[in-house]
Formats: sequence, structure tokens, C-alpha cells
Amino acid sequence: MEESVTMQVEPVRDLFVLGGGINGCGIARDAAGRGLSVTLAEMGDLAQATSSASTKLFHGGLRYLEFFEFRLVREALEERETLLVAMPHISWPMRFVLPYSPAMRFESDTPTSRLLGLTMPWMRGRRPAWLIRLGLGIYDTLGGRKLLPPTRRLDLRHDPAGRALKPGFSRGWEYSDCWVQDARLVVLNARDAEARGARILTRTRVTRAERVGDLWHVTTEGAGGRREHWARALVNASGPWVGEVISDIIHLPSTEGVRLVRGSHIVVPKLYDHDRCYFFQGTDGRIIFAIPYEQDFTLIGTTDMDHHGPPGEAHCTEEERDYLCAFASRYFALPVRPSQVVWTYSGVRPLYNDGAKSATAATRDYVLSLNEDGPPLLNVFGGKITTYRRLAESALARLAPYFPQAGAAWTARVPLPGGDFPVDGVGALTARIAASYPFLAPAEVQRLLRTHGTEVFEVLGAATTRAELGRDFGAGLSEAEVRWFLAREYARTAEDILWRRTKLGLRMTEEQIDGLRDWLGRLAADAAE
Ligand SMILES: Cc1cc2nc3c(=O)[nH]c(=O)nc-3n(C[C@H](O)[C@H](O)[C@H](O)COP(=O)(O)OP(=O)(O)OC[C@H]3O[C@@H](n4cnc5c(N)ncnc54)[C@H](O)[C@@H]3O)c2cc1C
Repeated sequence: MEESVTMQVEPVRDLFVLGGGINGCGIARDAAGRGLSVTLAEMGDLAQATSSASTKLFHGGLRYLEFFEFRLVREALEERETLLVAMPHISWPMRFVLPYSPAMRFESDTPTSRLLGLTMPWMRGRRPAWLIRLGLGIYDTLGGRKLLPPTRRLDLRHDPAGRALKPGFSRGWEYSDCWVQDARLVVLNARDAEARGARILTRTRVTRAERVGDLWHVTTEGAGGRREHWARALVNASGPWVGEVISDIIHLPSTEGVRLVRGSHIVVPKLYDHDRCYFFQGTDGRIIFAIPYEQDFTLIGTTDMDHHGPPGEAHCTEEERDYLCAFASRYFALPVRPSQVVWTYSGVRPLYNDGAKSATAATRDYVLSLNEDGPPLLNVFGGKITTYRRLAESALARLAPYFPQAGAAWTARVPLPGGDFPVDGVGALTARIAASYPFLAPAEVQRLLRTHGTEVFEVLGAATTRAELGRDFGAGLSEAEVRWFLAREYARTAEDILWRRTKLGLRMTEEQIDGLRDWLGRLAADAAE
């Protein structure tokens, strides 16, 4: 039993990682796999901040081409397939329909539109069809695509994707990107890091970090009380808190800033009947996606607003909700109404402050800043879910001089837990799960596969009836699965389980959620006795 008043002193580690979002967990996994000893501390639940609030795409970012962000787009495009192979359960290919109408006008202030305005003044305010086709052509070839199908033209008057749209959209294109269950990606990276020797501390806040001789001395506070840690290097992967951690926890002066840009999403009951997404261009130069979500819903987002409050307090405002409804309604035949919204979420992008005028124009690329005034401190600014693995490799490359014993880069295409099956093996795995657990409905089989991959068989064990899975909390959540999340995936609360390990919060009633809360409370009380 851990003592809550005395300070515990931990053994010296190579790396202390502050922050359990995708970047912290990705770096911890990579470092542990190279043989470094690692401790990671996350003040709340894993992925509680930005890394569960993304649009959930492994994508190159078609719109970043307009900003000439070719390095970022190429790296992200290359990563899509590398990641897909390593996690065919939580990630899958998606097709994006981009409707086009020559009547569309945009207020766009990108380098591309400025260039167009200068060389072809009559094109001001337009994204002509040839420009979009050119962008899609670059997008198709820049990242060495092998698994994903190429762009194709669509006649929306005949294609089923046109049916949900207003009649004015008669043509368009369809291109490829990938979906990823963002919060699960974080947890699976943390689990794999732990399996390779890392120590993962959740609900553990770093309150102070200082250099003492050749080491970092880090103090944390968490359920087990106060702890002292010693490490040879410190990685500050605190996302939107990066600046605050530098100034208030590490107490260093820094000229580098982070620009907090809030992005909100809305979820509505399914708006259309096919499995493709839409890429809509707005008159304000922005774009949004409409994406099939959790089988019965459509996800619409995102906004782009400078965020001024604390990073942990981002929420979708009514103004953002109405903006997204109005934006989508310019395309969909049936208007999307605020009253249809069943859930919203909001996150804060921790973008490197490059002095851009608008939030939309601020760079999405990451910056790794190494401070070597003593034992190394690596601050992580920005980044995308899509480039987390490459960011981790770059972080380890920057720290390599301090750790000559560390192994080489290794993470490309190495499966995450549950992802050890071929990309084209989803059908076969579906059939295996359905045959092993004939009492599951097809939609439940899909959800379990997309959550656990090949680990479904460990989660559900030898159960031959639903009753053998223990208590049924509703919406297909069984006691067996809850126990797995608690024992293997660092979950503690109903929110961890319903909004990050799964998205079953969308389907459960308040009563069912209270039932889960009570059950977890009783379990914790029994364990404390
Ligand atoms: C609206 C939106 C849409 C996006 N869409 C996409 C997309 O579709 N595709 C894509 O590739 N990228 C996307 N991104 C970008 C991506 O989500 C982020 O770049 C990424 O999640 C950042 O991860 P992170 O680990 O740096 O930060 P975070 O996930 O925020 O993690 C930082 C963690 O540090 C912890 N922390 C802070 N201070 C302390 C402390 N003192 N002690 C302990 N822990 C601490 C926090 O609790 C937090 O969990 C999107 C971002 C947003 C906001």
C-alpha cells in the first residue's frame, strides 16, 4: 500500500516525459523500445486533452498545400500507410468527396490565392476547378501512396454521394485519407511503452522540474502522494500547456510561444447512408468535414478560433455550433439544425507561434526545441496526430548524443497492441470474432474489432453466452470489457471508459451511466479496504 504523506524517491531514469497525449506517449514508446528507461507522467487521464479532441484523421492535410507546407504534407502523407499497417483495427481508409460548383466564391488569404490574384486577377476569390485538381494530383503523388486508391472525378448527378447534397453540386472529386480512433491510439502507445519497460503514471501532475547537476529533479503529485524523480533528460510534451510548463514548472525564460487555437466539432444523427466523408469549402476560405461516425452518427468539424482561456476549459460555444450547422447546410439538401446536435467536443491546438495573421494560417508543423544549458530539455511545440511517430523519431534523434547506447529507429509498421493482423484482414477477423461469440450482434462485433483488434479474444475470454461477460452496463458494454479497461488501459472513471476508451457515452442513458459510476465506486471502495 502506498504512503500518502512521505515523499517517495524513484530510481534514476534516462527520460522523464511530461504529458500523456499522443506526443508524450509516442516518444515514451519509441524511447522504451530503444532500451532507454522512461517514466511518463500525465496529470489526468491519457489523451484527456487535445489528443481525444481531434478530427481523427491520418491525413496529409489537403488545405495545407495552399500554404505551401510541402514538408509537413509529404511527411504526413507518407505516414498514413505506415500507420495503417501498424494499427488496422483502430485506423482505416476513408474516401472524401469534394463537391465543386463554379459559382463558389471564397475569401481566402493563403499564399496560393495571393499568387493567383497577382498572376490572374480575374481569379481573385475563386478556387478554380483546375487548381483543386492540381492540388489533388500533388496530394496523390507526394506521399508515395500504395495501399490507398487514387483521386477520381465524380458526377454528383448520378453518384450516390450527390443525393445528400443540394442540386447545384453536379461535379466533384473523391480522394483518400484515413480515419484513426485518436484516444485509443494514445492508450495503445502507452501500453506498448509499458510493455517495453516504461513506467506510465496517470493522474500524476508534475509540479516542479529543476536541474540538479547532471540530472533533472522532477516532483509529481498524484494518488500515491508526492514523488521525486531523477532523469537524465526531460521531455516537455504538455501540448497546450507547453509554455506554462516552461515558465511555471521549469522556471525558464523562453521567447518561444505557443498559439492556442480552439477547434470544435458537433455530432448529429447520421445525415446520409453511404460510408464516404465530405470535404466542404466555406466562403470564408475555411474547410470542414462531415464524416460517418460511430455507425449511427455524422461528425462535423472543425472551427478554428484563437483560444484565450485555460487550455483545459475549451468547449464548443453556441456560436461555433451554429457556424458548423450553417456551413454544412450550404451543402446538404436538408439543413443541419442546432437542435439535432447530440454531442459536441472541443480541443485546443498547441501551434508553434509563427506570427501568422489568422488562426487558420498558423503553421501545423511541429517544432522541437532543445535546451542544453545543463541536462537536456526537449520542448515539443505543435504536431499532428498523423505525424506523432515521426515526431517521436525526431525527438529521439535530437536526444541521441546524450544516449549513445540507445537503439536505432524501430517503430515504422510495428503493430500496436491488437493490430497484429493484415490491413486487408478485417473481414477475416470479423468472421473469427462472430464465430467465437455468436451471441454478439454484427454492430457489436464491429465495435469490438475497431476497439480491441485481435485482443478481443483476451477481453471476452472463453465466454459462450452474454451472461458470462458479467454485468451488462448498457449499449453493449460488459463487465468483462470494463475490467479490461481498468486492468490494462489505465481507466479509472466512467468518463475515461465512455468517452476515451470507447465512445459509448453517445449511446448510454444517464441512468446507465450512473449505474457504471456506482459500480466503479463500489469496486474502488472494496479495493481500498
Ligand atoms: C480540433 C482539432 C482537430 C484536429 N484534427 C487533427 C486531425 O484530424 N489529424 C491530425 O493529425 N491532427 C489533428 N489535430 C492535431 C492533434 O490533435 C494535436 O496536434 C495532438 O493531439 C497534440 O498532442 P499532444 O500530445 O502534443 O498534446 P495533448 O494531447 O494536449 O497532451 C498533452 C498532455 O499533457 C498533460 N499535461 C499538461 N501539463 C501537465 C503537468 N504539469 N503534469 C502532467 N501532465 C500534464 C495534459 O493533461 C495533456 O493530456 C487536431 C487538433 C484539434 C484541436
